[in-house]
Amino acid sequence: MVWRLVGVFVLGVLAGSMLNRFIYWWPRQEEGGTLQSACPHCGNLWQGLEQISLWGLCFSGGRCHYCGDHIPLRYVLVELMTGILFVLVALRGQGALDLIRLFLFVLLLVPLFFIDLKHHRLPNILTMPGIALGFALSAGLGQLKSAIAGFVVGGGVLFLVALITRGGIGMGDAKLQAMVGAFLGLRLMLISLAIGIILGGVVGLVLLLFQIRGRKDMIPYGPFLITGAILASLVIA
Ligand SMILES: [Zn+2]
Repeated sequence: MVWRLVGVFVLGVLAGSMLNRFIYWWPRQEEGGTLQSACPHCGNLWQGLEQISLWGLCFSGGRCHYCGDHIPLRYVLVELMTGILFVLVALRGQGALDLIRLFLFVLLLVPLFFIDLKHHRLPNILTMPGIALGFALSAGLGQLKSAIAGFVVGGGVLFLVALITRGGIGMGDAKLQAMVGAFLGLRLMLISLAIGIILGGVVGLVLLLFQIRGRKDMIPYGPFLITGAILASLVIA
């Protein structure tokens, strides 16, 4: 059991290093950015085990061997987070199809989390296929009705909020929450939304109180919604 989970964790770290490439590539795709694993400082392509930042952190002092600059903390966090979430999926999944659903959900949520945190965008290239995948897998699990309800309510509520507030919560958030509904169904989507709203409110208030962010600063909401989705699907469910 323990070795199986260690294997799943390693698999998650490997998947995380692939996600790092996507997260690096997505904002640069128009400049012809590479999907290969490259140092963000010097641009040299990393080879072999160097491509796994966690390995680099443990065995090459956390530095790129071309330029000697630090491997970004984000790279390591993405790999660690994917590894840990993969272990949670292995512990919580019930049956092959449910495991596939949760693994894919994690593989979509991790890059959405980090891209929204940095670029304040939730790429359609992830959310739109994510909605289709969520429906297909929910249908396979006999939960299509609940998935449709989750999609309509999750997407609909945030769509209205985005229309009214014009800022803060955007259309990307609405599509993200629609995707969460398609994957998790109505009940868990509502739980995830409640967690996301509370978390966003608390963190936003703390940032304002300590003047880390001003009233006019944009705080991306996706990471809160995603944290809610992860807690609802892998901890509470
Ligand atoms: Zn470098």
